[in-house]
Amino acid sequence: MSPKLAIVTGANKGIGFAIVRGLCKRFDGVVYLTSRDEERGKTAVLELNKEGLNPKYHQLDITDSKSLEVFRDYIKEKYGGIDVLVNNAAIAFKTNATEPVAVQAAETLRVNYFAVLATCEILFPLLRNGARVVNISSSCGHLSNIPSESLRNQLKDPKLTIPELSTLMNKYIKEAKQGTQSAEWGNSSYNVSKVGLTALTMIQQRLLSDRDIKVNAVHPGYVDTDMTSHKGPLSIYEGAAAPLFLALDAPDTVRGQYVWYDKRIVNWDGQRP
Ligand code: NDP
Repeated sequence: MSPKLAIVTGANKGIGFAIVRGLCKRFDGVVYLTSRDEERGKTAVLELNKEGLNPKYHQLDITDSKSLEVFRDYIKEKYGGIDVLVNNAAIAFKTNATEPVAVQAAETLRVNYFAVLATCEILFPLLRNGARVVNISSSCGHLSNIPSESLRNQLKDPKLTIPELSTLMNKYIKEAKQGTQSAEWGNSSYNVSKVGLTALTMIQQRLLSDRDIKVNAVHPGYVDTDMTSHKGPLSIYEGAAAPLFLALDAPDTVRGQYVWYDKRIVNWDGQRP
């Protein structure tokens, strides 16, 4: 029988690296550290080897459909299925970035929403019954970050479909190009991308409700990584705690939830904690 399989995207550094480390210690199966850059990924694997941990490695750029397909075919052939998928890879422009809002909006949504969606579309057919999917969202992914009540109502509509959500995300990109986005969507493309990812999580869980698959979104906390210019107070290992809880320990009843770094279930469309 094939061993159990766990996969983490964007795992050459930061929280993703720490999630792989935790999985290597506790997951009863094979763990894949994936990265868009092969050298950075293999260096990360060597780092873990020094601790006696042995993740496998595969290249995976979530924005590259060819890379996604090669990885999917490899996993299908070698293991047949996936038991844990952690969608961790993401980008964030720095607050002092000089790129125009239109560019930041298109690029942030391309990676943090559309590429994660593409990853799921390619890999979900391989999810085994009982599988767990952890989407690394953020406190920025709380619905209260969207100023427009009408948009909030659309985003939390329990009948919202993935194509409808993608249309909303494209609408944001279009409005950012016109410079008319901020009243309805706020001033952060990162917030919109993570709200989109949290909304996607809710839809994915609904679509998989007839199978024993758990899909949850998580805010890992404010963590000391390159993304935060090392301003976050939590270590990457503390940031990995809630994602690891969802991947390994959460009761099966935790599904379609938005979970905080201290493992509290938070009301995504209610009051901000
Ligand atoms: P880092 O910037 O440290 O790491 C991000 C990782 O994603 C890197 O390995 C990066 O690879 C990878 N990545 C980026 N684009 C792609 C791509 N196209 N394909 C594959 N991998 C890619 O960020 P963090 O560790 O801080 O963030 C991890 C997750 O946690 C993200 O989803 C982030 O939004 C979320 N988060 C982080 C918080 C924090 O305080 N740090 C707070 C809330 C949420 P490369 O090295 O090649 O660039």
